[in-house]
Amino acid sequence: MNQNNLNLLFLDVFAHEFKTPIAIIMNNANNIERRYYEGNIDDIDVHKTVEAIRRCCSSLSRLSSNVNLALSGMTNILTNRSRYDVAEHLKQICFMSNELFKKNGVEITYKAKKEPAYFSLDPDLIFHVITNLISNSVKYNRSVKKLINVELDVIGPELVINVKDNGIGIPPEISNRIFERYYRGDTSSTPLASGLGVGLFIVSKIIEAHKGEIVVVPRKKGACFKITIPDCETLEVCSVNEVYVTPEKLMNSYSDLLMMYM
Ligand code: ADP
Repeated sequence: MNQNNLNLLFLDVFAHEFKTPIAIIMNNANNIERRYYEGNIDDIDVHKTVEAIRRCCSSLSRLSSNVNLALSGMTNILTNRSRYDVAEHLKQICFMSNELFKKNGVEITYKAKKEPAYFSLDPDLIFHVITNLISNSVKYNRSVKKLINVELDVIGPELVINVKDNGIGIPPEISNRIFERYYRGDTSSTPLASGLGVGLFIVSKIIEAHKGEIVVVPRKKGACFKITIPDCETLEVCSVNEVYVTPEKLMNSYSDLLMMYM
């Protein structure tokens, strides 16, 4: 496909992705106004409406920042690198993500084969990578119980992270293409899985900036992503508290998924 057609396709998907959150915001605004005039409204209705609108706004803002990131070419992105315990960081991300989605039939487990695991990484970018992979594992998954397993290991001088799921899996013929900008696989079996096809492009650029590698590991059932990052810098150690995972950051990262479950 030439660049012109690719741009048109992207604009088409982009316009489509904007429609859902805007329609939900509009519906909520109309409903709450109607019920207000009917005198048929309580605190819980107001709270639910505000929450729904907030999630849609998060999703829109995430869409636009992902587009900005994808268009920027992702150069010079490592601005906030520090030496910290990645094992503890991933534990926090997985634990809080599991809490957020467990009532929706999602189970996220985490295992550190080696801890602590001090590496010099950008914690915000690593957060982006892991939440993006988890989000895809839920989106591209039709199992009643969606199982996601994140595993960390340190092999020699390298940090190794595996993210596995029991979803629809990745056919071998597209396992390299999924990291291309704007590439989307066949999503007809997962129609609720919205996206612009830039998530894994951004993820791969982040890993590349850390001089690492991300690959799809072939599996019989589900998908498995393997990340390898070398330890290439010695910085002063900072504690995991400085790397905190806040519920707001998490909700923002998962805004697409939260809309799916609204
Ligand atoms: P998007 O989710 O917006 O389509 P991504 O770049 O995150 O964009 O993913 C690209 C494609 O890779 C998806 O359209 C999907 O076909 C495939 N994919 C990504 N993660 C998974 C997964 N965990 N299981 C199955 N397919 C996946």
